[in-house]
Amino acid sequence: MKKISLFLILIVTMVATHASLEVQKVADNVYALVGETTQRSPSNFGNNSTHGVIVTKEGVILIDSGASYLGAKELHQAVQTITDQPIKIVINTGGQDHRWLGNDYFQQLGARIIASTKTQADQKTRADYHLTRLGSLIGKSLDGTNPVFATEVFDEKMNLKLGKVDLELLHFGAAHTVGDIIIWMPSTSTMFAGDAVFNDRMLGVGPARDIHSWISVFEKMAEFKPKHIVPGHGHISNLSVATKNTYDYLTFLKTEISKILDNDGDMLEASKIDQTEFHFLSGHQDIAGKNAQWVFETMEFDY
Ligand SMILES: [Zn+2]
Repeated sequence: MKKISLFLILIVTMVATHASLEVQKVADNVYALVGETTQRSPSNFGNNSTHGVIVTKEGVILIDSGASYLGAKELHQAVQTITDQPIKIVINTGGQDHRWLGNDYFQQLGARIIASTKTQADQKTRADYHLTRLGSLIGKSLDGTNPVFATEVFDEKMNLKLGKVDLELLHFGAAHTVGDIIIWMPSTSTMFAGDAVFNDRMLGVGPARDIHSWISVFEKMAEFKPKHIVPGHGHISNLSVATKNTYDYLTFLKTEISKILDNDGDMLEASKIDQTEFHFLSGHQDIAGKNAQWVFETMEFDY
C-alpha cells in the first residue's frame, strides 16, 4: 500500500513539474510553445496560452512571458530544450495575464520588455485584478510573481531587429484586449497573432468587448497573407484555419446579434442564439452565452 501511494505521489509530482507546454516547430528557428486550452490551473502555472520563440545568432526573442514567475520559468525551460541562446527580448502582445506576468523573471535575466503603449497602461490598470484572480485559480503556483510592466513602448508600429531577424510590431486596435498587437516576421511569412487569434478553443469577446475592432484587426492581419500563424491560444495553423476558428465566429456573432436588434429583440434572445456550428471549439460551454451577451451590450449602443 505504501509503495503504491509513493508511486502515485511521484506521478503527481512529475505531472506538476513537467506541465503541459508542447513545442511546435513553425519554421527554421521559429517555434510555438503551446499551453493547455483549459482554464488556468496550479499545474499549468496560468499558462493556458500559446507563446512564440524566435532563435537568432544574437539571442532569443520570446513572445509573451507567461502568467506567473513559475510560469515564466517553465517557458524558459521549454526554450532551453530548443536552444542554449539567452532570452534577449520579451514582447507582450496584450494585457492578459499570461502575456506579461512573467516579465519580472526575464527582466532579471537581462531581457528588454516591449509592448504597445495601450498594453502597458492595461498592465498597470489590471495588475491587481489579475493577481487576485490567479491567486484563486493557481494558488501556490503564483508564488514569487511580481508585476513588472513593459519598459519599451510604441503607439502603432515598431520595427525590431535582433541577429539577422526583422520584425514588425503592429497595433491596429483592440482585439481581445485594448492594446493587442500582432507581430509580422516577413522572412518566414509568420504572424504571431497573440490574442487576435484563438485556435482550438472558443475565444472570449471580453475584456475589450469591441467586436468591430477585433474583426478589423483580423482583416488587416489577413492582408499580410501569412503562411504560418502562431495564435494566442491553441496550435499553430494557416490563415484559413485561423479564419474558421476566430474570424468566422466573430462575424457570426455580429450577424446574429444584428438580426436580433433589427427585430427589437432583447438580451435574453441573444443568450439563446444557436452556436452549435462552433461547438468544435473547446470551452464553448463556459463562454458562448457570455460572448453573445457582451456583443449584444456593445451593439445595442450602435442602434
Ligand atoms: Zn489569452
